[in-house]
Amino acid sequence: MPPLPLTRQPIVIAHRGASGYLPEHTLPAKAYAHAIGADFLEQDVVLTKDDVPVVLHDIYLDSVSDVAGRFPERHRADGRFYAIDFTWAEIQQLRASERFHHEKGTPIFSGRFPIHASAFAIPSLEEELTFIAGLNKSTGRNTGIYPEIKQPAFHRKAGKDISRIVLDVIDRTGWGEPTQRIFIQCFEADETRRIRQELGCRLPLIQLLASEWKERVQPGQLTGLEKALDDVRTYADGIGPALTHLLLQRDADGFLQTSPLVEAAHQRGLQVHPWTIRRDELPQTVESLETLHSTLFLKLGVDGVFSDFPDLTVAYVKSRFG
Ligand code: CA
Repeated sequence: MPPLPLTRQPIVIAHRGASGYLPEHTLPAKAYAHAIGADFLEQDVVLTKDDVPVVLHDIYLDSVSDVAGRFPERHRADGRFYAIDFTWAEIQQLRASERFHHEKGTPIFSGRFPIHASAFAIPSLEEELTFIAGLNKSTGRNTGIYPEIKQPAFHRKAGKDISRIVLDVIDRTGWGEPTQRIFIQCFEADETRRIRQELGCRLPLIQLLASEWKERVQPGQLTGLEKALDDVRTYADGIGPALTHLLLQRDADGFLQTSPLVEAAHQRGLQVHPWTIRRDELPQTVESLETLHSTLFLKLGVDGVFSDFPDLTVAYVKSRFG
């Protein structure tokens, strides 16, 4: 299929919703991100025991819910509580929380929403997509969705075809229509390719770049990088690199060295949507949020970014591109 036109005004993707302000992947975090003007709202998706896709970052429940207190016997030998071992009816009984260290019980981000506070739930994918469609209707906006298919190989080992199930929910909720704004993302390249070639999905696909790309983006590796991107181009519309794939290091003079990844991707018609902008966890190579925004949008020319603080990133984009 022909590549999508590269966007001029970059898009802001609310990473797990407005997760800098409210517990990730709760409907209030999505509502807030919608209200503060994010262009897309992200969903990470895993399956329950009874094959219901739920919006959850990990295959585990114990870092973002009260599962250990409510179902204390239901962990595996490794001590973890897996969403795939619980039915949707059981997951609906859980309270969602701001993310915490599951062993220590302390918050990941001390400055964010308190852990185990107020009342939040883990939504099913269908509940969430219906919710966002409802907000788009009542506000007249056309905010997009950005579902990530999590760990397809893990699900396949359990006899589950997560991609097929997620694509079915997207279709049933009307999000597969041409007027909708949507990207589908996945880390596992074999699966992203399968979604396009075997499942026949025509929606825009983003290949997330895992750690093996760290080597490919180093100076002097351009031939290998271009070959890898030529392959991605055969089945995807864009790439989702980590910030560390773009911002390499500071040299002795303090000059920030960036990788050739964005330019090489653009030469192949691939969009570039890096992750993740966090006001409270900047990459070591930049000294401020302003520098991070200007490097990504002005120096490198990325087409979009994932941000935990979408209001700050939207404000930057509007000030420069508006
Ligand atoms: Ca994700």
